[in-house]
Amino acid sequence: MITKKVYFCNRTLKITGVTLKNIIMATLRFKALETVLAREQQEVIFPKEKPSKYFAENVFNKLKMQEYLSKEAFENVMEANDKGTNIDRKVANQIASGMKSWAIDRGATHYTHWFHPLNGATAEKHDAFFEPTDDGGAIENFSGTLLVQQEPDASSFPNGGIRNTFEARGYSAWDPTSPAFVVGKTLCIPTIFISYTGEALDYKTPLLKSLDQLNTHATAVAQYFDKNVTKTIANLGWEQEYFLIDEALYHARPDLALTGRTLMGHASAKDQQLDDHYFGAIPERVAAYMKDFEIESLKLGIPVKTRHNEVAPNQFECAPVYEEANLAVDHNQLLSEVMNKVAIRHHFKVLMHEKPYKGINGSGKHNNWSITTNTGVNLFSPGKNPKSNLQFLTFVVNTVKAVYKNADLLRASIVSPGNEHRLGASEAPPAIMSIFLGKQLSKFLDEIENRVSRSTKMTPDEKTELKLNIGKIPEILLDNTDRNRTSPFAFTGNRFEFRAVGSTANCASPMIILNSIVAKQLKDFKIDVDKIIETGVKKDEAIFRVLKTYIVESKAIRFEGNGYGDDWLVEAEARGLTNIKDMVEAIKHFVTPESVSLFEEMKILTKRELEARLDIRQEIFIKKIQIESRVLGDLTLNHIIPTAIKYQNVLIENVKGLREVLPDIKNDSQLKVLEKISNHISAIENKVAEMTLARKDANNLTDMTIKSEAYNKNVKPFLDEIRYHIDKLELIVDDEIWPLPKYRELLFTR
Ligand code: ADP
Ligand code: MG
Repeated sequence: MITKKVYFCNRTLKITGVTLKNIIMATLRFKALETVLAREQQEVIFPKEKPSKYFAENVFNKLKMQEYLSKEAFENVMEANDKGTNIDRKVANQIASGMKSWAIDRGATHYTHWFHPLNGATAEKHDAFFEPTDDGGAIENFSGTLLVQQEPDASSFPNGGIRNTFEARGYSAWDPTSPAFVVGKTLCIPTIFISYTGEALDYKTPLLKSLDQLNTHATAVAQYFDKNVTKTIANLGWEQEYFLIDEALYHARPDLALTGRTLMGHASAKDQQLDDHYFGAIPERVAAYMKDFEIESLKLGIPVKTRHNEVAPNQFECAPVYEEANLAVDHNQLLSEVMNKVAIRHHFKVLMHEKPYKGINGSGKHNNWSITTNTGVNLFSPGKNPKSNLQFLTFVVNTVKAVYKNADLLRASIVSPGNEHRLGASEAPPAIMSIFLGKQLSKFLDEIENRVSRSTKMTPDEKTELKLNIGKIPEILLDNTDRNRTSPFAFTGNRFEFRAVGSTANCASPMIILNSIVAKQLKDFKIDVDKIIETGVKKDEAIFRVLKTYIVESKAIRFEGNGYGDDWLVEAEARGLTNIKDMVEAIKHFVTPESVSLFEEMKILTKRELEARLDIRQEIFIKKIQIESRVLGDLTLNHIIPTAIKYQNVLIENVKGLREVLPDIKNDSQLKVLEKISNHISAIENKVAEMTLARKDANNLTDMTIKSEAYNKNVKPFLDEIRYHIDKLELIVDDEIWPLPKYRELLFTR
């Protein structure tokens, strides 16, 4: 065995075996850092031009299409984009040919259909343009058929029982609403991914359907106020939080490398108490990395704009300018690919996990969501006159009601094993869904509630006064800076910000649910208003009356107070709001009769598709807990216990020696330490054995729901229980022999 003493991360380590490799990598890292900084100075890796020069240079967008496509093909794509019409095969050939020429001009040799399978990642299977010909030569080929549809042998993607492996056919079909792009030497074509029988196997298919439904129903309601509205578009601006860690440290922590989070590690004496990282100066090495991945993102048309330090040490955030939701979802997925790739050349690892470190802030992904019209109006922006403000209130109140009625579904849309550690951990919103509107807006809703009568007509004076007050909304909202950061779903002036989304989430998941529930709500609203109009009541008054009933019904979901406080837990319960902490419970809400009927009515997901999604989430949960439990078991038995025993032996020798030299000495304290170590060791050993048994029992279960419950109740709790003892040992055992980098090293080395 190779054994070496080295100075590493501010302490001397005796390095053996595999760990030695990591030290070598650490040394390399410093070299790499020097190189990166040197190259930056020489402006080798960073372009000299302004971002506007290279923005979207790797995207086959409208400008490129105009250049590379025939007029007919260009118009066909634009129409498909605008109206959702089909692209016919002949034109598809022309588009494919233009796309190929452009991609080859950008150095591409391969192409792939790029899609979002339900495992949360993105998938691609590369094929070369190159094709041998009969005469022994070769051509670069890419036909319309290859562009429009493919059949990747993707039988290993989760499908929740929709496809059996023997009929593994899944089809990917081009989504012309998200432009193709070149990454490296590959042309990537955004696609949907469906089964042979037409069921969705991805996130994009239901996302596109939900956007379509939202467009239909939001447009119909917006027409109450302006007949020129013919289309509405949902926008999404995400904010992505993440941690960075040196790759050498990452590899020295098998738990991080295999599960994405640290399964052990005592809190560092200093972490985020002083709030000295938040919005502080970005460390030089990190800034070089950010600059690098931002440039790559900009070239791919991802309009990244904002960067800053986050609350926890080594935690950062990146946010773009908001975009049409489908494109924004693609861009967020693409961003994490870019971030991971670029991190390699900076010798960083990006931790996207919601909670890589216990006891300090985890990472989320705020989803800023709004709806705009083809006439350029943001439906969540108060307007200049009472009419447009009534429209604004209509959309706000309907969103409030949709969230109220479907809070559990919205909660289900953000589940992930990682996000469970974050929600309600006094740094992120609790698992209780509520809406923050801000004092002023709340006041207006109260006003409608108090002034509008359900049955008797409003007098012209009452109406004028109400409208006058509503007319004041914009000025008041402008000063409405009391942003409540503890709310999971907050109105922030001209959009709603869904803050409970986890950092690893595919934004499509919350967006599908949000679009769907608001679409359904607007559909019902129109029916309710039209019914009153039919009785001879004027449109505005009918709208007021319906809004009033909605405001009253959904009042319980509105909460302006501190969402992190314990009082809220009590109050929320009294209000009848649910607080679903466990992922396994939360996901069941995908398949309640109400959810199934909503999704089937809106033609977004069928019962079978919803059940498949539930099944997939359960499987992911089980596998993640299984992996965490195995990794923890291995690490305790191979790293922690042997180390603790070694230290114990040192102490035993010490006590023996002392007694020899000084027979009368009382060495109580050493004996106490020895006892502590021994207690922790036996607790760990017993618990690991129990955990393994619990896992075995759970593995024998076949029903996914029961199995996921067993993992949740019988296996998961051991992770924390075992960790407790390991973290205690970490405080006692000689630092020199502790086998894993500690929190203070993971969090402060950069
Ligand atoms: P904060 O951290 O204060 O919430 P940021 O500036 O970091 O704000 O991020 C705000 C995000 O919201 C950005 O992605 C931005 O593009 C997006 N955004 C701004 N206005 C809208 C809007 N009308 N609709 C959707 N997203 C929006
Ligand atoms: Mg935000």
